[in-house]
Amino acid sequence: MNLSKELNNRSANKCELCGNEDGITAFLVEPRTTAEISNCIAACSICCEQLAKSTKWNVNHWRCLNDSMWSQVSAVKVVAYRVLSALKNEGWPNDLLEIIYLTEDELAWANETMEDENAIKHYDSNGIQLFSGDSIVLIKDLDVKGSSMIAKRGTAVRNIRLVQDNADLIEGKVNDQTIYILTQFTKK
Ligand SMILES: [Zn+2]
Repeated sequence: MNLSKELNNRSANKCELCGNEDGITAFLVEPRTTAEISNCIAACSICCEQLAKSTKWNVNHWRCLNDSMWSQVSAVKVVAYRVLSALKNEGWPNDLLEIIYLTEDELAWANETMEDENAIKHYDSNGIQLFSGDSIVLIKDLDVKGSSMIAKRGTAVRNIRLVQDNADLIEGKVNDQTIYILTQFTKK
């Protein structure tokens, strides 16, 4: 049986979040990558659009979670938990968060992407986000601490590493020496 048939069976062809019957598609719940039924929910176009964050949160739409958060389907509970967390400053979602029940595994799944969102982010001098493995160029001559070396402006540094507890610092190799570099002096 293919995925959409399995989902139809499970969801009775309705959005598993809001019950809507229009534009139902399989929504893969991040960070899972395999399109199998346990990783997917049947979601309507409105829910998909909201979950893709391609439009502003429609807070009232999500009152549907009042019912769907009690689903037997882990993927549905995970999405409900994430949406409620994102909206918790609205008041009522926070009340629901206090009573939603997730198993340990479901909670770990739900938090996998939420932790990413809260993680420290690194940006270059132009405000472009940096990731481990990126290459950057120095935009200023830099004195290398503890040596007489100067890392010249224009030097390309490949395969940088982010310093996890400091948003202003990355590590990279210049002349075979690993140095710390302030992100404000980098350009991707
Ligand atoms: Zn929906």
